[in-house]
Amino acid sequence: MRITNLSVEVRPRQPSANPIRDALQTLGGAGTVDVKLETDTGVTGTGGIYFGRLPGAPDTLAALIRNELEPLVVGADPERVRLLHQEMLRETEYHGSFGLAMFGIAAVDIAVWDCLGKAHGVPCWKLWGGLRDRVPVYAMCGWLNHDESRLRDVCRQAVEQGFKGVKIKVGCPTLAEDVQRVKIAREAIGDEMDLMVDANQALSRAEALRRGRAFEALGCTWWEESIRADDIDGYAELAAALAIPVATGENLYTPADFARFLKRDAVDIVQPDLRRAGGPTALLSIGLMAHAFGRPYASHGGGPVQLNVMACLPNALYLETGLRKEGSPMKIEAGHALVPNGPGFGWG
Ligand SMILES: [Mg+2]
Repeated sequence: MRITNLSVEVRPRQPSANPIRDALQTLGGAGTVDVKLETDTGVTGTGGIYFGRLPGAPDTLAALIRNELEPLVVGADPERVRLLHQEMLRETEYHGSFGLAMFGIAAVDIAVWDCLGKAHGVPCWKLWGGLRDRVPVYAMCGWLNHDESRLRDVCRQAVEQGFKGVKIKVGCPTLAEDVQRVKIAREAIGDEMDLMVDANQALSRAEALRRGRAFEALGCTWWEESIRADDIDGYAELAAALAIPVATGENLYTPADFARFLKRDAVDIVQPDLRRAGGPTALLSIGLMAHAFGRPYASHGGGPVQLNVMACLPNALYLETGLRKEGSPMKIEAGHALVPNGPGFGWG
């Protein structure tokens, strides 16, 4: 099988009038870049990359894919997907195989695996070797722009929609404000559901330790991205000092970054992002490496690719997703997202 054509489509999204916000950024929406591959057997595959902000980024990524990756991809054999992944990393090394370059590599990697699954008529988890047919799922729904009444409402919606847990953003100017939000969310979801807190890198080490102790006392399930994503020493200190599990990883690039954090005991729960890690090829490596270190895997973001990966991981802990929208193809049963059975990354 050979890839005969790569096309890129940019789907811009109008800026939201009421954007969601965390402690680091305001996410007005920017759009999606879709890569579509055609092969000489007639099988096609697609890979989509979403941008929560930076309206110029989708067009910039599309140009990068066309100018730097397309020459490597057209003519390649999808059955050698790991070879193509290495070639894309090597090709972009001159300016850094990170940032937008890695978003492009991830888009292609998703599309190639999608081709392979479809060529074999099976979901990708069957190509990799499956282990589970469902994954615990939580709703990331408590954004910082929500006032107390809205926060209460979205948490109640998560309960009604059958989630096993809820995550809320913290990192307000004061600890007291954060504690108040945690208490509102807990009251709305009851005692049985998990409640996670995420500061999106906003705090100093000292403040992260102080607030981590408070969240620990409040029974929160994990303490996510409290300090700068690259502060490996800081995360190691927090993980040693706190009983609440320290979660991070959505802003790490490549399995090598995760290896450094795991080796330093700087992370209790790994949270790879499909785009920044470098596509499903990299997610599988990171997941199994974390398993070897005895650390659970909780996805950053949801969707069928993460679900296919987690279907194969013995250490899959939690799928992250937003509140369910009308017509969402993901099925939830008793706090678990069902692993899709469509070919490639299809929902089925
Ligand atoms: Mg996060």
